[in-house]
Amino acid sequence: MRLVFVGPPGAGKGTQAKVITEKWKIPQISTGDMLREAKANGTLPQDLIEKMKAGGLVPDEVVIDLIRARTEKDDAKGGFLLDGFPRTVPQAEALTKLLDSRGQKLDIVVALDVPKELLMERACLRRTDKRTGQIYHLKYKPPPPDAILEHRADDHEDVVRNRVDVYEKMTADLLPFYEKAGLLKRIDGVGDVEAVTQRVVRALEQVRG
Ligand code: ADP
Ligand code: AMP
Repeated sequence: MRLVFVGPPGAGKGTQAKVITEKWKIPQISTGDMLREAKANGTLPQDLIEKMKAGGLVPDEVVIDLIRARTEKDDAKGGFLLDGFPRTVPQAEALTKLLDSRGQKLDIVVALDVPKELLMERACLRRTDKRTGQIYHLKYKPPPPDAILEHRADDHEDVVRNRVDVYEKMTADLLPFYEKAGLLKRIDGVGDVEAVTQRVVRALEQVRG
């Protein structure tokens, strides 16, 4: 199973990806996580740190190189879930080319639809446990008292607003690209986590049986 999760910041991609990758036994590959890891290791150039902090996108070549290297690893041979990549048509085209060169293709692109008002609340109250990577929400999924919580630098209201705007601009082309390719499946991301998971699982079972 090779699939992509597309959706605005706070839509629930990371949350759903954790469940799906466990069920299908494939790695979750998040360019956002890889970039944050590079930042934590001190290997991310300062101009890219600034871009992320402001909620803008990093250059296509940067994320394409990350994806090329990560999808070559052994654990990705049997499939993978891409979370937050591709975000632009050039990234999508590069992914198609990369997979073609390996005789592979995508099975499905899942777009999680969530209205703007909910996204703000979901992203701004998101907290992640530094040690486990577990995603919490101060209202919907309160963290346990012993969690070591991180509040992402880009999960503040003005930056989230910008990230949602950037997402809307980029999907204006990206979603039609995958619709034309017959790969796009839009899923309602409103409701509790389990309800959304059921919708995603149903869609994946339809493509893979
Ligand atoms: P994304 O990866 O798309 O940016 P996340 O999966 O990190 O989004 O979710 C953003 C926030 O919303 C997190 O705090 C998460 O706990 C919460 N969340 C995710 N899905 C739901 C849901 N269905 N209902 C309520 N809160 C949710
Ligand atoms: P995310 O964790 O997916 O919300 O991504 C956090 C940030 O990382 C984004 O706001 C961008 O600055 C950067 N980023 C992640 N993935 C991509 C991508 N595919 N293309 C460009 N920038 C990205």
